[in-house]
Amino acid sequence: MNEISKELIAPCGMNCAICSRYLAYRNNLNRRQCRGCRSENKKCTYLFEKCTGINNGLDGNASAVFCYECNQYPCSQINRMNDRYRKNYSMSVKDNLDCINKMGIGKFTEDQYEKYRCLKCGGLVSVHNKKCFKCDKVTKLVEKYD
Ligand SMILES: [Zn+2]
Repeated sequence: MNEISKELIAPCGMNCAICSRYLAYRNNLNRRQCRGCRSENKKCTYLFEKCTGINNGLDGNASAVFCYECNQYPCSQINRMNDRYRKNYSMSVKDNLDCINKMGIGKFTEDQYEKYRCLKCGGLVSVHNKKCFKCDKVTKLVEKYD
């Protein structure tokens, strides 16, 4: 069963379903929680007002739903995030956006589920600390992302 809904894919291509903060929320852990970028503030959690391309996410009024649809793409902000995630978490948000653009959001979430599924419980493994928040002990209370 694919637990990744479209709404969990952030404008930048980040899959919130595999973020440690979202997993903390889903599993009700006593850690910093987040319901996902789009459900929290309907736009980009990282950039807030600084981003003018992505405004209201999936509600229909947005100028762009994903960053690749924006006329400023790729901006320096997403390049910076892409570099950081590639270096620290072996994930590229720009590759994610490419997949979404080429294959569609449905296929992308299916692929993400295959890639980050926990083999023990079928839940999702965090891209940040590579742990399943259901099966593995996740003890550290706070932190940047792990
Ligand atoms: Zn598990």
